[in-house]
Amino acid sequence: MVFSMVCPGFAQTKSPAQFLGYALGQRFTPHHRVVDYYEYVATTNNNVVLEYYGQTFEFRPLIVAVVSAKENMDKLETLRTDNLKRAGMLEGPPSTTVPITWLSYNVHGNEAVSSEAAMMTLFALVNPEESKTKAWLENTLVVLDPCLNPDGQERYVNWYNQKVNAILQPDPQSVEHREPWPGGRPNHYLFDLNRDWAWQTQKESRERVALYNRWLPQVHVDFHEMGIDDPYYFAPAAEPLHEQLSSFQKEYQELFGRNTAKYFDQQDWFYYTKERFDLLYPSYGDTYPMYNGAIGMTIEQGGSGRAGLGMLNAEGDTVTLTDRILHHHTTALSAIEVTSQYSQRVVDEFANYFAESSTNPKAKYKSFIIQASNAPDKLAKLLELLDKNGIRYGRSGKSASLVGFNYQKGTTGRFSVTEEDIVINAYQPKSVLTQVLFEPEPVLNDSITYDITTWALPYAYNLQGFAVETRVDAGMVFEKAAFEMNTAIPGTLAYIAPWNATKHAAFLTALMREKIRVRTSSFPFSFGDQSYPRGSLIITRAGNKYVPDFHQKVTDLANKFEISLGKTTTGYVDEGKDLGSDFVRTIKAPKVAVIGGEGTSSLNFGEIWHFLEQELSYPMSVLEKDNLASIDLSGYDVIIMPAGNYGNQEDKGNINLIDWVKKGGKLIAMEDAVELFVDTEGFSLSKYADSDEEDSLQQVETESEIQQMTIPYLDRERYEISGAVVGAVMEADIDETHPLGYGIGNRFYTLKNNSNRYAYLTDGVNVGYIPSLDRHRAGFVGYIIKPQFEKSLVFGVENIGSGQVVYLVDNPMFRSFWESGKLIMANAVFLVGN
Ligand SMILES: [Zn+2]
Repeated sequence: MVFSMVCPGFAQTKSPAQFLGYALGQRFTPHHRVVDYYEYVATTNNNVVLEYYGQTFEFRPLIVAVVSAKENMDKLETLRTDNLKRAGMLEGPPSTTVPITWLSYNVHGNEAVSSEAAMMTLFALVNPEESKTKAWLENTLVVLDPCLNPDGQERYVNWYNQKVNAILQPDPQSVEHREPWPGGRPNHYLFDLNRDWAWQTQKESRERVALYNRWLPQVHVDFHEMGIDDPYYFAPAAEPLHEQLSSFQKEYQELFGRNTAKYFDQQDWFYYTKERFDLLYPSYGDTYPMYNGAIGMTIEQGGSGRAGLGMLNAEGDTVTLTDRILHHHTTALSAIEVTSQYSQRVVDEFANYFAESSTNPKAKYKSFIIQASNAPDKLAKLLELLDKNGIRYGRSGKSASLVGFNYQKGTTGRFSVTEEDIVINAYQPKSVLTQVLFEPEPVLNDSITYDITTWALPYAYNLQGFAVETRVDAGMVFEKAAFEMNTAIPGTLAYIAPWNATKHAAFLTALMREKIRVRTSSFPFSFGDQSYPRGSLIITRAGNKYVPDFHQKVTDLANKFEISLGKTTTGYVDEGKDLGSDFVRTIKAPKVAVIGGEGTSSLNFGEIWHFLEQELSYPMSVLEKDNLASIDLSGYDVIIMPAGNYGNQEDKGNINLIDWVKKGGKLIAMEDAVELFVDTEGFSLSKYADSDEEDSLQQVETESEIQQMTIPYLDRERYEISGAVVGAVMEADIDETHPLGYGIGNRFYTLKNNSNRYAYLTDGVNVGYIPSLDRHRAGFVGYIIKPQFEKSLVFGVENIGSGQVVYLVDNPMFRSFWESGKLIMANAVFLVGN
């Protein structure tokens, strides 16, 4: 790529090369320099506006540049509000017709070609020598987000720049092509931000999606890198395509695909389309825009986190950063060109999408009822998610009898709606997104997907609810009940807080920080007509005598979390155990450590880290797995093992760990971390209950393997999936009498993400388990694997020596959006073995 030279005396925006002092592709640019260049371009061009929309966990700025022709920029606010009017999010007719192409770069930090390309593309949009882009900007607006994940990008670039050889070293074995754990892909808390668009559990996503929803672009392009041996991928996307995609969304992808192919063909660049990248799971940078009326597209360049400045691929060609930048730049321009070429149509179809979906919703279920009888703090968390996504809801306002799908039972039948129940229907601007997030079972037109196959919110939030095939309107505006402040009453003997939602755990840890002793009862109890379930937090005056302003402190904290406290002036209960009973135990504030590092799942580690620090403000130490042998574990009460490969019990680190458990430690092992204990002496965790069960389950597998031998070679992938489970929901029974089950209710909807199966513990407590196969509620489970889940363990606790091991076979808080499982984690850390 040759950059135009600036003529002396001719004022013109500097190219990235002139500004940075090196040509793009010669180095990776640190994030702050990318920001510098964007700021520089915005200050030197009157048709570029920069918006700072947030900040990362590591305090880096999140920015977008908005670019268009000057005439459009002069009425920017009108363009924005017109778009929302077109979507029905604002009232009134729009007066302009300028579509928006939104370009998102580097959501995966180590796919760092993207931010470099973002500078090249911004320059092309302001460079007066580029007559084509100037013409496109006459009738389109472009938003460029040069880096969605600055912390990840910086982790990669900073590491890479330290390791890179001065002379281009394309040897794949050289250290610069081998990124260490956890890699630059995720954000600070090691979340994959490209799985977080709908849930917005991460700061970056929350701030970005809020901005996105203030604009609602027509086209959204998400730039990535994939394995180095794949050349390049652009839309059209692969099956499965969600049934809700409109014909124009598919048509645009086709137009764009052909236009981009034309440029790639001219340069002899390889690419592929319609493979591998599907459109189903709603939290990607392509699907989320798709379900919000835009044409969402994933773009993938081969090289991901490995190629660096240049690396040999399997064909023996050097894949260089320079080439990769040029590819992404070409694709970005192609998208802007197509949007400009079809600008009127793009805008009209966008309006049609919203008009049609909100008047004639396509999917089977049109309305969703969430019962008001659900625990209010659990319900509030769901409404918060709907608010973040602009989904409207109200209260039913009348009693009625309806027929609907009962999420919990998995059956359809008659049910009663009360006046207070929450009604969400698809007759609203965010119609498609509503249906997608609530649909009990997404319609798959191909079972091979890149991700989980169900995410229905009533399961993720464990709420009683129904899906109805007809239109049900909310008769009443939802008004959040004003929180009734708790008042400090000196005569109070104990305050009692509920225990059924994540925020109750945050309240517990806040009390712990104030050194206030908190108790919990192993039995339900009551005072007069006030009854409290097990697990309720009991904060007694006794035992807290040395806490100054005890009553004020407790009530202030409860008010801060908006938690309504019960009160009692006696410890003498009407039912259950008295507050002074041995069954009412003080909850110890544990010293917690989490194992991380090479060999552990960075995603799972990150979920735990984020939960403890960000949601509970609770401190934790991080212990590297490889150092476990030499670490003194005696100071910790709880150690969490995220999913990972921990080797066997002979490893020195594991010997140290198990020794610590025997002396009284509590170990929480998640997902495949439990493999360390399976079928080993001293632990009752095993794959099969007995040899009969083993024989019968293995026979099913053997039969299918024989069958598979004659399956045509090219059909194998499709067949293999019948032995997989990809994010399916099963209903587990919960033993509510065990602390691990407190506050959950007697059912938990567990997200099955692996085919590991374990029999019931013979010498422990089976707290969560799947008794029968009719517990499959939603999502894809291959028919070969399915019988395995009958009579299988989900969550269990076993005493080992003086300590305990908590087995969490399924991740209870997947991607942090499986809200209902966070309490299981809190139970495991704070209540089990107390
Ligand atoms: Zn990516």
